[in-house]
Amino acid sequence: MNETESRKLYDRALKVLVEGVGSASRGPATFGGYPPYMRRAEGARIWDVDGNEYIDWMLAFGALPMGHAHPRIVEVVRREVANGTHFATALEVEVEVAEILVDLLPHAEKIRFANTGTEAAMAAFRLARGLTGRKTIIKFEGHYHGWYDAVLLNTNAQMPTALGHRFNPIRIPDSSGLTIGSWQDTIVVPWNDFEAFDRAMDAHGSEAACVVTEGVMANMGVIPPKPGFLAHVAERSKAAGALFYLDETVTGFRLAAGGCAQLFDLKPDIVTYGKALGQGFPIAAIAGPNWVMEGLEWGKVLHYGTHNAPRLGLYAAKTMLTEMLANDHAGFHRLQQIGDLMAGRIREVARASNKNRVLVQGVGSMFQIFFTEAPAIDNYRAYCEHVDRGKFRDFARRLRKKGVFMSPSNALHSLSCLVHTDADVDATVQRIGEVLEDMQT
Ligand code: PLP
Repeated sequence: MNETESRKLYDRALKVLVEGVGSASRGPATFGGYPPYMRRAEGARIWDVDGNEYIDWMLAFGALPMGHAHPRIVEVVRREVANGTHFATALEVEVEVAEILVDLLPHAEKIRFANTGTEAAMAAFRLARGLTGRKTIIKFEGHYHGWYDAVLLNTNAQMPTALGHRFNPIRIPDSSGLTIGSWQDTIVVPWNDFEAFDRAMDAHGSEAACVVTEGVMANMGVIPPKPGFLAHVAERSKAAGALFYLDETVTGFRLAAGGCAQLFDLKPDIVTYGKALGQGFPIAAIAGPNWVMEGLEWGKVLHYGTHNAPRLGLYAAKTMLTEMLANDHAGFHRLQQIGDLMAGRIREVARASNKNRVLVQGVGSMFQIFFTEAPAIDNYRAYCEHVDRGKFRDFARRLRKKGVFMSPSNALHSLSCLVHTDADVDATVQRIGEVLEDMQT
């Protein structure tokens, strides 16, 4: 594979861009050297500056449920950009998208649009605190809710010895520059661990403004919830007077039209959405029942922003929802079908290869491959202890050389989109088989 142009661009980029990229997940910290610089994309394919073509399973970290440059999105955005990019005023399309969401999501009576998952989460945490008059946030190990200081704890994999006892996890800030004050009111609990959660609630529930959780762990590969765990978290949170906050930034408009709330029959008090909602455009949303969302009225709990409810993102969201919800949510069903097919086929090819112990975990349209001896990875601790992340990086690098694009970070995951075909699955699985054969045990 010729990568001359990517290499040259990386050299230029290092002189003017931090790490040569816009975020650590795109650059050397993740790729182990120069990353491929991408130039264009269409459907389920992406091309780099050297003209190499890849089947894309990374898909902008979940922001593209319909794939790249979907004709419907291109048409609408082309039309609307000619009518003005952004007004920062009240908009008809904002009302229309909110109506679709309120109709679709039983837990949502009001919506507030933001730009990114992080921003929406910041507003949601402030809202939870403002509404309850309490300061404690209870979050789970390995769950990422954006790069907001208060919750940037235990989101990176660590040596297992650094984690502390499961009943009293060591809180590990993931960045320099966080003051202790910013996270001292955040409690960290192991996920999928009923006993540890109950103990944390016994000790801190009465001070908790909210308990926040991802519905499916999406930032330590893919880790599904144990049966009944999310319902238990919801029940205990509400009983303690804390808001049950479901972060659906990844899972919303992906695992089902109504995300994990629909999939696991949950009634969250606050939900945040991002990624898939904008079909590639930055737009996020905070949603909840009136009694919660009213907290934002008149700036009682303040949420401002010049770029809130971005106009083009709203048109993209409206188009995505209209397309994907048509025919009884056929688009969303197709996403799950392709994801399930991929997970099953990778399991088969891994078994056949017999050289590497491979575990594939997936929920519908999200899946991840773990090199591990463990029969399952069910939380952050198991991920830190049992997953060979270096081996996955090597695997992803080899796969990319064969024209298949997955993030080399094992903590992320692969995703299906509407326009992946069965032939894409065949081609990908065949190359995965070749890579597994080539890798040393
Ligand atoms: N919440 C979850 C569960 C996420 O996975 C992410 C990003 O990956 C975020 C929040 C932050 O979203 P954004 O990157 O749009 O700020």
